[in-house]
Amino acid sequence: MPGLVELRTDNLERHIEPRPKVSWPLRRAIVTHDAELASTSITTVLDALRAGSLEADSGDLRALAAALHASGSDRMRAAMQGFAAEPKHDTYDVVIIGGAIMGSSTAWWLTQNPDFQGRVLVLERDPTYAKAATTLSFSCIRQQFSTELNIKISQFGGDFVQSLRGWMGGDTRVPDLRIQNFGYLYLADTEGFAAVLRANQKVQAANGAGTRLLTPDQIKAEFPFYEVDDLILGSLNTLDEGYFDGSTVFDWFRRKAREAGVEYVADEVSDLKLSQNGQQIQSVSLASGRTISCGWVVNASGTRGAKMAGMAGISLPIEPRKRFTWVLQAERPLDRPLPLTIDPSGVFAREVGGGTYMAGGYADHDPAVDLDDFSMDYGLWEDKIWPALATRIPAFEAVKVISEWAGQYDYNTLDQNAVTGPHPEVRNFLFLNGFSGHGLQQSPAMGRGTAEWIVHGCYRTLDLSALHYERVTAGRAVVEGAII
Ligand SMILES: Cc1cc2nc3c(=O)[nH]c(=O)nc-3n(C[C@H](O)[C@H](O)[C@H](O)COP(=O)(O)OP(=O)(O)OC[C@H]3O[C@@H](n4cnc5c(N)ncnc54)[C@H](O)[C@@H]3O)c2cc1C
Repeated sequence: MPGLVELRTDNLERHIEPRPKVSWPLRRAIVTHDAELASTSITTVLDALRAGSLEADSGDLRALAAALHASGSDRMRAAMQGFAAEPKHDTYDVVIIGGAIMGSSTAWWLTQNPDFQGRVLVLERDPTYAKAATTLSFSCIRQQFSTELNIKISQFGGDFVQSLRGWMGGDTRVPDLRIQNFGYLYLADTEGFAAVLRANQKVQAANGAGTRLLTPDQIKAEFPFYEVDDLILGSLNTLDEGYFDGSTVFDWFRRKAREAGVEYVADEVSDLKLSQNGQQIQSVSLASGRTISCGWVVNASGTRGAKMAGMAGISLPIEPRKRFTWVLQAERPLDRPLPLTIDPSGVFAREVGGGTYMAGGYADHDPAVDLDDFSMDYGLWEDKIWPALATRIPAFEAVKVISEWAGQYDYNTLDQNAVTGPHPEVRNFLFLNGFSGHGLQQSPAMGRGTAEWIVHGCYRTLDLSALHYERVTAGRAVVEGAII
């Protein structure tokens, strides 16, 4: 192959055959190899590939460009993405900890409120967002929740995504987004879970969702590729349910917020200073040494949410839990789109397109992990995920893993639901935490609600108070029967 000049080390071989019996396409293996080197700032040994051997505008070239981009110094990289190295002021009306989708949605909604003229600072410890849940997400949206509030939050998310340009002031730079409506299909193999699906469908239908309950025969008739013999019931909705381009939504929240004057700074919040009576956060300390006074503080720090709250002496039942993703190529692609299928084994998979699919899951032993632990569980695919998938969809006997990664949920151990709104005593500390596996789709409604609280001291559109912190101290779970 032109350009392939390094075959000395076993490093490239590791990419060509990451595990026994698993082989990657050569070109992909080469680019990944170089990307790995570039991401550690080693650019002098990018000798597996000569740029001249790549076709212009190919996915490979873009991947390599991204890798080279990632090899720059942190400061250079941050500047390239519109981050300032330090805040312009010492005082801000709103300081947002975490500049991923929740923080950026809140910042953007604040700029849209005519009653808000304040200064907003977004602090982000990692401007590459490499480990943020926002980046590592499945990026799907559903109406199949069991609580009216979660359904309404997602319905607004769906409307928002599909009218993104309108919400962004009709800006013609903003693309028109659509939801890829392959739907979610929950499968029940026990009477207990079938009863949950039936009850959920009633709540969903009452709230305008198009959920249909399907017998195993009906599932087989609509999707002949499933094995259904062990099933009792399925629950499917294909209306505003499926994949959406969460990265583009995130990108436009950020771009528009910045254009409206919000400052994004690459720095880490290292401490919070409370007032003497303990009822207010007076200032945030930054790793760089700066101290910033604040009116409001929004905790949008994802898996670090509990750590941030702890700095204000507040306990938050949120911990990082690992969730794994595999991208697969099928030797014989399915003859119709694969709904996001939630198998009774807990394994789930969805359509990507072009014979490619994404699968997700986690180990049966699912403890809290270290905040920086993103190591891959290589045994899990062969021990649990693949057997479950191939049993449910026999055509998936012949699939090849082309990519895989570990992400982290900000897992709410009380009820796997969001914690939002103010702390009852530290009134200027607002939560945006614990979204577990459904935060991307909730970001439009959550950012809007948080901005309303800051500006008006109450919710003006959707009442989010059922998700406030008070339920944590009372031990009152908002039970959601449809958690993935
Ligand atoms: C594998 C996986 C699949 C998922 N699939 C879906 C899905 O299909 N649909 C869906 O709706 N949701 C999904 N989710 C959940 C969704 O991605 C998250 O709920 C959502 O992205 C959370 O956004 P966030 O902004 O709160 O947190 P994050 O994206 O984690 O961002 C938090 C940010 O805060 C920054 N930060 C942390 N501490 C500090 C500090 N001290 N100072 C400054 N910055 C700090 C971090 O660097 C990070 O950028 C999935 C999540 C995972 C992991």
